[in-house]
Amino acid sequence: MQDLKGKTALVTGAGSGIGKAAALLLAKAGANVAVLSRTQEEIDETAAEIEALGAKAIAVTADTSEDADMRDAVAKTIERFGKLDIVVANAGINGVWAPIEDIKPDEWDQTITVNLRGTYLTIHHAVPHLEAAGGGAIVIISSINGTRTFTTPGASAYSATKAAQVAMAQQLALELGPRKIRVNAICPGAIESEISDNTQSRGTEKTKIPVDFPKGDIPITDGKPGKADDVAEAILFLVSDASRHITGSPLWIDGGQGLLR
Ligand code: NAP
Repeated sequence: MQDLKGKTALVTGAGSGIGKAAALLLAKAGANVAVLSRTQEEIDETAAEIEALGAKAIAVTADTSEDADMRDAVAKTIERFGKLDIVVANAGINGVWAPIEDIKPDEWDQTITVNLRGTYLTIHHAVPHLEAAGGGAIVIISSINGTRTFTTPGASAYSATKAAQVAMAQQLALELGPRKIRVNAICPGAIESEISDNTQSRGTEKTKIPVDFPKGDIPITDGKPGKADDVAEAILFLVSDASRHITGSPLWIDGGQGLLR
């Protein structure tokens, strides 16, 4: 396993799914981890699981789309661990999936605000500390939606945020490269998680285009979704020295799903 001893990581959306798996894996690799989401009990549980591994954690309640929350969250991380080396900008929602003439302005804004403004605020507040640490690694969790596939009906707001996250990773890779901060994006396909709890669909049958693969749509698993750990392993690689020459790169983790449709 990669060695992250002495490193501090901030993982947003660490209460469940991909963020929780990443937080636990980075801790197993030796990092101190600040785990963040809006639901105190969930991140307390993640932090307790990390402590049970013998690693150090702090649970920080914050909404990534709120400027003051993210300023405080990063400040608490620095107060607890003294520095910041790794950021996993993972928190996100599916939001409302509906035809473009149906989706309401507030619904559109909610998806853009959590997924895109939240990613911006996470990185905005973290970068000065990554620079102070002499460099670091940022991983943004995007999606196959908006980067490789455009076939999830009604997902126009979601896919726009996910495409924008890859653009941010590429733009920031250049901007932050001279400061030794690497920025990469991971684009998962279907992964088992709690994200369907944050998804509303309306009228998507109207715009659905049938694109069914005979044995399900993920060739490498006979149609089964991936696991959060499948993504966490790649996050660990991208924040470790093993990926020291990789920046500005999207990495699709979808079992080939995105190539089919
Ligand atoms: P999940 O199980 O629902 O986890 C999302 C986490 O983000 C939760 O801890 C949630 O906690 C937190 N969160 C959501 N909005 C937040 C906000 N405004 N501020 C702080 N925390 C927030 O979902 P997941 O599937 O692991 O998704 C993680 C990321 O992977 C997302 O960016 C998603 O778009 C991306 N992704 C997932 C899949 C998939 O199939 N699962 C595929 C492609 C991409 P609270 O709600 O309590 O705050």
